[in-house]
Amino acid sequence: MRMIGRPGRNGMNSRSGSQAGAGDLLELVRSGRAVTRGALQQATGLSRATVGQRLDRLFRAGWLREGAGGPVDSPLGGRPSITLEFDGDHAVVLVADLDTRHARAAVLSLTGEILAEHSGTLVIGEGPDLVLAELGRWFGELLEKAGQRPAEVCGIGLAVPGPVDSATGRVVQPPMMPGWDGYDITGRLSRALTEHTGAPPVPVLVDNDANLMAYGEQRAGHPDCAAFVLVKVSTGIGAGVVVDGSIYRGIDGGAGDIGHIRVGADALCRCGSYGCLAAVASGGAVARRLAASGVPAASGSDVRDLLAAGHPEAAALAREAGRRVGDVLATVVTLLNPGVLMIAGDLAGTPFLTGVRELLYQRALPRSTAHLDVVTSRLGERAALIGAGALVVEHLYAPERVEERLRALGV
Ligand SMILES: [Zn+2]
Repeated sequence: MRMIGRPGRNGMNSRSGSQAGAGDLLELVRSGRAVTRGALQQATGLSRATVGQRLDRLFRAGWLREGAGGPVDSPLGGRPSITLEFDGDHAVVLVADLDTRHARAAVLSLTGEILAEHSGTLVIGEGPDLVLAELGRWFGELLEKAGQRPAEVCGIGLAVPGPVDSATGRVVQPPMMPGWDGYDITGRLSRALTEHTGAPPVPVLVDNDANLMAYGEQRAGHPDCAAFVLVKVSTGIGAGVVVDGSIYRGIDGGAGDIGHIRVGADALCRCGSYGCLAAVASGGAVARRLAASGVPAASGSDVRDLLAAGHPEAAALAREAGRRVGDVLATVVTLLNPGVLMIAGDLAGTPFLTGVRELLYQRALPRSTAHLDVVTSRLGERAALIGAGALVVEHLYAPERVEERLRALGV
């Protein structure tokens, strides 16, 4: 049996060549593994005529186009063949990244290009109804700014700072999102978009912000890394794990929630427990300690500003926080043996990284760190947006969903 699924996906889309459908061909083109008719024949075992019929449907849907690069040599010999590519401009994705007091939203092309972007104050504690209604308004303005019609929107991706049950898109007992527990985020956000733009309902995917940052960063900068870990240290602490190209969420969406591992201190955490890692080593915790010694700071982003200005006390506290996090990461790294450990968020600067390295290399087994790169973010504040956009596109254009969507388009 020839496997044509993307490596790392479960077996759902690994089929024998004779059964490859339009979705499988699209997947081969999108992944770059077969970009000519000849290569598609070879990869699937389908006849030239069948490949042609299936490609015609994808062309009629506007999902595929001829590549700009000109003809290339065919693996089957003969005349050079036209290359095919995914048409990333036939629809757009709306994405947003909610932080505790601030949000960022954008219109993305299907290949992740930012067409319009907005960031501003949006207080998550005001509750889901108000926050999601406001996001709907932002989306309407962004579509206008990008010159895109509401009907072009194929889906919405939302990053939130809490644990998400990805099957329902609902957050589960989120310490930093009062009033959001179990709320129907996908329904409300889809409705908010319709209210503000008249757009028909679209699929909404919700995921944890660290998961989406990890997904975006791994795809953008470390596509060959089969075990990738990102730790976000801002007002809270969370981690995202990408294994074989897919987000690893665990059984209940709780994987990576390292901020609430007890580290034995007696500080009270926002989750209501004492001694959590986030209570002593997050941006919020550093801000509280700075404020207690008379330095004005209330959040992770205030600490970020102080670190950027070279404030010595902020730097010392960030390094100490890095050591606390590094101690926990020694366990994470020993368990997962990642190739890349990315430190992101408000505290991700030299002092914090120095602290992480001090404890990580001291406590982890040498074998689990021998090939480990500890790095900082490449996409910066846009990582979760890019990850959210990619998640929506991978969901909508997955082989198992393509047939149904093509039929709905009447092709
Ligand atoms: Zn906690």
